[in-house]
Amino acid sequence: MTARILEGKVFAAQIKEEAANGVAALKSEFGITPSLAVVIVGDNPASKVYVRNKHKTCEELGINSIVVEMPETSTKDELIAKIDELNNDRTINGILVQLPLPAAIKSHEEEILNRIDPLKDVDGFHPYNVGKLVTGDPALVPCTPAGCLKMLDLAGIEIDGKRAVIIGRSNIVGKPMLHLLMSRHATVTVCHSHTHDLPAVTREADILVAAMGKPKFVTADMVKSGAVVIDVGINRIAPKKLVGDVDFEAVSEVASAITPVPGGVGLLTVAMLMQNVIKATRLQVQR
Ligand code: NAD
Repeated sequence: MTARILEGKVFAAQIKEEAANGVAALKSEFGITPSLAVVIVGDNPASKVYVRNKHKTCEELGINSIVVEMPETSTKDELIAKIDELNNDRTINGILVQLPLPAAIKSHEEEILNRIDPLKDVDGFHPYNVGKLVTGDPALVPCTPAGCLKMLDLAGIEIDGKRAVIIGRSNIVGKPMLHLLMSRHATVTVCHSHTHDLPAVTREADILVAAMGKPKFVTADMVKSGAVVIDVGINRIAPKKLVGDVDFEAVSEVASAITPVPGGVGLLTVAMLMQNVIKATRLQVQR
């Protein structure tokens, strides 16, 4: 079997088109142009690329975008004061603090992220939004897992009743993915670094989501014939070479569908962020 390649750009274009329609609807219904503020602290080159990408996508869709650049030496209190300012600014609908934070304030990450107004929390990391997702009433959902679910839907892949296995239990990917797939009636198993006999578990998956951050870890013998494989991993193995958590070439021969890296899930994340900005704006209108 040679798998269908689930190209991120195809689905990202559809998600962005929906977002552009959402922007137009907000304008015509309420006269509002949604706006996103991205806060970046320090000079991490990878973070700068991500922030530029978000800014560009906002511009493409007619979403106002401001980038707040703060120096590497910023204190926790300075960052919190900036978040408060953005929380109180009625012209800002979405707030995102680009991670990772500099080492000096990294230990305060939770306190900093929890300071964001939950209705402006377009990353979906605030305990309010986590709680909403867990109780089955999702509001703002983390962009990467939300993008994976959306892609499955757009690709016409059935979820209801399927066995899904997620490798990785992070708050950003693994845990929200669990709740999203469970809410769609999949039977979900979450694996992590303490899981015994991982291949035996992953071989049960109709839908396998790899989000562990280990280059090419998932090999063909870990995948059931005909499974759908979603590779969330982004691993830099050389200055210009990115690979996923899945051995793409070998697994493509076993799976029925697979996402490439690069060019897969990564593109969906930014597109879903745009949808979250629109959703956040609507939530604020209803507040
Ligand atoms: P993380 O480091 O927070 O979590 C990794 C998880 O993998 C942990 O729960 C850990 O228990 C599990 N794990 C590690 N080694 C394992 C092993 N040998 N067997 C089983 N489980 C194991 O990572 P994260 O933030 O969830 O990110 C995971 C990957 O996804 C990374 O490569 C990251 O770069 C990528 N990522 C991509 C996007 C995107 O936009 N596509 C977004 C977020 C993260």
